[in-house]
Amino acid sequence: MVNSARVFTRRRERLLDEIQAQGISDQRVLDAMSRVPRELFVDGALQHRAYEDLALPIGLRQTISQPSTVAYQTMLLDAKPGNSVLEIGTGSGYQAAVLCEMGLRVYSVERHEGLYERAKSILSQLNYRALLRVGDGAMGWPSLAPFDGILVTAGALEVPKNLLYQLREPSEHSPGGRLIIPIGDRKGQRMTRITRTDEEGYDTEEFGRYSFVPLVSGGTNI
Ligand code: SAH
Repeated sequence: MVNSARVFTRRRERLLDEIQAQGISDQRVLDAMSRVPRELFVDGALQHRAYEDLALPIGLRQTISQPSTVAYQTMLLDAKPGNSVLEIGTGSGYQAAVLCEMGLRVYSVERHEGLYERAKSILSQLNYRALLRVGDGAMGWPSLAPFDGILVTAGALEVPKNLLYQLREPSEHSPGGRLIIPIGDRKGQRMTRITRTDEEGYDTEEFGRYSFVPLVSGGTNI
């Protein structure tokens, strides 16, 4: 047990070196990921692959995101300790754990009850205090809004309007909230960051291409 924990730690360090070499420069993200045991968020039979830079199946045709993608989305979020962040698509709970390690207040919505239950159990075993719920994440979490950041970990055909309205408006104390969302169809999505600039205004920036499982809302993919 002790030995395998040590092996996992060594593999995790090596993976993070690779991710850093790919251009993830945010040390806070790398440090947070170095503290989360990804092997505990995947099925026992896949633990030996937990530190390959791959998305892996987590049941119900869903996947835990590729580590370099988790690092990239978290870097784009650019959240500060104490910020409140909403994740859409809890999945295994791994991304939520990374956000907790960044010192954020973490809320996460998952549409599959089975995945929600499993994520809740592993996050509480590891003492991560994310607040989870089952529901349609495209609606956001209105009673907890506004958020400093919203991170969508499933591919959307278009930007869900409800999420835009739940981003914090900029003030003298804080910048506008940021929505990180992969936009596109099943063939691939473009990572997109939308920053709230005032009551009505939003800035959009586009980044690289990715391949996420679809965001499913109201029986359709959006
Ligand atoms: N962040 C996850 C990866 C999730 S994969 C992790 O770290 O493991 C995408 C997840 O989004 C899947 O679990 C899927 O069930 C969920 N999902 C898809 N559409 C959704 C919706 N409308 N609301 C909430 N969750 C959704």
